[in-house]
Amino acid sequence: MRRSSRSSAAARPDRRRLLAAARLFLEAIGETGLRPDTRRTPERVADAWSRELLAGYGADPDALLATTFAGAPRDMVILRDLPFTSVCAHHLLPFHGTAHVAYLPAGRLVGLSKIARALDALGRRLQLQERLTRQVVTALDRALRPRGSACWMEAEHLCMTVRGAGARGSRVVTAAYSGQFERNAALRSEFLRAAGVGRTTGRRVPSGRRRRR
Ligand code: ZN
Repeated sequence: MRRSSRSSAAARPDRRRLLAAARLFLEAIGETGLRPDTRRTPERVADAWSRELLAGYGADPDALLATTFAGAPRDMVILRDLPFTSVCAHHLLPFHGTAHVAYLPAGRLVGLSKIARALDALGRRLQLQERLTRQVVTALDRALRPRGSACWMEAEHLCMTVRGAGARGSRVVTAAYSGQFERNAALRSEFLRAAGVGRTTGRRVPSGRRRRR
């Protein structure tokens, strides 16, 4: 039985109302000296939010991962350096960074590009990075019933880096694991080593989900 993650997809953005909101937002800012430049801004804002930043609501990650195929290998599959973009649910500002994803097959495999597309579908919504990281693992578990899944994310949150000079350059790191990854520290180390985590920064490797702030 496959549970759907469509419940959140019901909140698909309404471009017409985003356009009205963008007009109001611009009025509220009170900028009048740039009128020729801001004439088409509400349309641009409505398009950017409905078609790009929040495009994930129009995609179903479960459907993207639904086409699996039988495969005997049981060795770890790792996708590293996947770029992702999301929007912080607390401040409506983007956060963006890199994800590493892995799973331990138990008879089913999935196309690698499907994992990247599922990450994109889950990311391009209002999110918390902690929740997004866990949702990637849960989506893989649902689709593949693997022996374990892992997701590690590092991102710059504009709500942290552009609002306070003290946080400039800071990154938020989160990790989520299931199955054998959760139980076996050596597997987690193998995953993080293969993904290159800590190699350049010397950053401490997270052993589980990290809270930010
Ligand atoms: Zn925020």
